[in-house]
Amino acid sequence: MTAGPCAGVAAFLVTAGWCAASAAGADAAGASNALARDLLAQLIAINTTDTPRGNVTTAAEAMAQRLRAAGFAAEDIRVLGPSERKKNLVVRLRGTGASKPLLLIGHLDVVEARREDWSTDPFQMVEIDGDFYGRGTLDMKGPDAIMLASLIRLRQEGFRPARDVILALTADEEGGGANGVQWLLQHHRELIDAQFALSGDDYSVLTENGRPRFFKLVASEKVYADFQLRVTNKGGHSSVPVPDNAIYILTRGLDRLAAYEFPFELNAVTREYYRRLADIESGQRSADMRAILRDPPGGAALERLAQDPVERSITHTTCVATRLDAGHANNALPQRAQALVNCRILPGHSPEEVRQRLVQVLADPAIVVSYLASDGTLLDQAPAERGFAPPPLLPEMLNPLDRLVAETWPGLKVIPSMSAGSSDATHTSAAGLPTYTFSPLSVDPNDDREHGRDERISVASFYQANEFFYRYLRTVTAR
Ligand SMILES: [Zn+2]
Repeated sequence: MTAGPCAGVAAFLVTAGWCAASAAGADAAGASNALARDLLAQLIAINTTDTPRGNVTTAAEAMAQRLRAAGFAAEDIRVLGPSERKKNLVVRLRGTGASKPLLLIGHLDVVEARREDWSTDPFQMVEIDGDFYGRGTLDMKGPDAIMLASLIRLRQEGFRPARDVILALTADEEGGGANGVQWLLQHHRELIDAQFALSGDDYSVLTENGRPRFFKLVASEKVYADFQLRVTNKGGHSSVPVPDNAIYILTRGLDRLAAYEFPFELNAVTREYYRRLADIESGQRSADMRAILRDPPGGAALERLAQDPVERSITHTTCVATRLDAGHANNALPQRAQALVNCRILPGHSPEEVRQRLVQVLADPAIVVSYLASDGTLLDQAPAERGFAPPPLLPEMLNPLDRLVAETWPGLKVIPSMSAGSSDATHTSAAGLPTYTFSPLSVDPNDDREHGRDERISVASFYQANEFFYRYLRTVTAR
């Protein structure tokens, strides 16, 4: 295609009907894609790892400069944080004030990447065979660039949203002691306060053999908790074994844990997940998904579904032994045996509740169960706060998403889901800001390179996601 209103616009936009109306619209889409690409390349070239070479402030300042150049008022752009190298960027697109603001969050920091592990320089964006390569393309400088480009496009079009749109690009999501979202919530809540928040920290269009399967909207997260199991013993000479052996005591307890299953439980988000997924799946699987939604849930269906480790993790709290360490000499009875048990807790339950359950399941007072905090300290008791209950799926957030997804990928469904990991959405949700996570990038989960080598995103998908997000933002803030 060389002429007409669709010239210069990628074919998928044309087929999706996105370049219909005017040449101006097509030009704007093309210009926004070029800008998003530029922003991504610039962000990738700035090392934002939590290492001596990394600096998040440099990235925050660079993006602030871009926003100033795009016409945002100086007082609406803030670069602030607890340390010189860990500053966050907060920018506000002013609306009419008819509704409460919308907050967009993304993290600027990335996981370390070493040149010798990669095929290309991880801190230099390159395009090879239809993919952009570079650390953070997916997690999550790609989504950051898309959010920035969309905001800039709205500003340049003179769009007046019904609600302010706030974008916070932050530090230390991946680790490090200066988590930007937590810091902003504690020290500058007024800057980021909103009715609800959208995080771009997960790709949403899950593909299989190049074809999209469903659009994942993360609306709930499990809570992460580590526990240490420890048995101590006076030990002795290994030539005279005694029944009271620290290793045997611990491993018998671990056997009981391996056989234990936490109760089946659904919440507002996982219910909707299975309700919608049942329409996509077929045969027994689909029937089982419908059966577990009944009250009481079908027992046989429950058992069959729980055979799948993924479904099991969605419907249960899980605790699994991940490390084991015992003994001090080949010829001595062990004086100490310990294991690390990692739990992913369903929302609505506290780590302390799970610790007490572990004590019951291990069923031996000789096994001491402590909570291992993220800073490495061991505590007799775990936090008693419960994971935030999943927020309701707000119609003003979900309806435009359903509509836009159906328009873009005919037949594709939005599937609300719960993440087994935890992200910055944990902090915003806990602070009373319902947070929904999606980024309209297409990725095959079998080739997910987040945190890994040769991280990449498809160029076509990046541009498609950029246009999608702009359109979504326009719709969701129209009233
Ligand atoms: Zn991330």
